[in-house]
Amino acid sequence: MFSIRNEVECYVSCINDSSLLPLIGISLLLALLMFVIYFRTDRPMSRLLSLAGSQLLIISAIATVVHAMQCSRMLSIEIYLGYVAFSTAIILFLPRVYYRILIKRYDARPISEIMDWPEGFVNYLGTTATIYYYDSAIPRAFASGKAIFLSLGLLELVEKTELEAIIAHEIWHIRHNNSTPILRQLAVMSFSKNKSEDELEKLADMFAEKIVNKSALESARAKIS
Ligand SMILES: [Zn+2]
Repeated sequence: MFSIRNEVECYVSCINDSSLLPLIGISLLLALLMFVIYFRTDRPMSRLLSLAGSQLLIISAIATVVHAMQCSRMLSIEIYLGYVAFSTAIILFLPRVYYRILIKRYDARPISEIMDWPEGFVNYLGTTATIYYYDSAIPRAFASGKAIFLSLGLLELVEKTELEAIIAHEIWHIRHNNSTPILRQLAVMSFSKNKSEDELEKLADMFAEKIVNKSALESARAKIS
């Protein structure tokens, strides 16, 4: 008769008997490390690679377990399918909640605490978004979910029209989040100095130019390191 307890006991003894245990352990440790990198790094590319890497490591660790099984293949398959569902849910869900992690990580505060016009500007553009500021000397702006993050270094550096251009650029990203590939969403988009060849960045810039003007956008870009 099938009993989940027997299945689990059998499972544990199978893994213990297997010479593949160290490999499974190392895969899971590396996967954990990559998860940590994903949440700590600021670089979009490292972020994507670490997330993809951790998922692949976990899935391959489970595949190794299945391979090592002398018994209870059924439970392996259930765990495998369960993890695939979990992993898919994370990838679909994370872009929607990631901004909350960023607020905590940067100890970000609503910009309305220090400036009153940016919220009005967002309303004028007809978008639901919250602008946050955070303490960093490095001039930076980026969007995630329905939040825009601006560093204090940026706020000190740019003129009002330049900041409007930056906010408009980020608003474009927020509006087009749903049609943005999920992998791009996972790598938080930022307002970077380098004129990107990226199609999405060009479209976001065109929108900002239309809302504010081209020279404000270009001078803002020149000030961002
Ligand atoms: Zn952008």
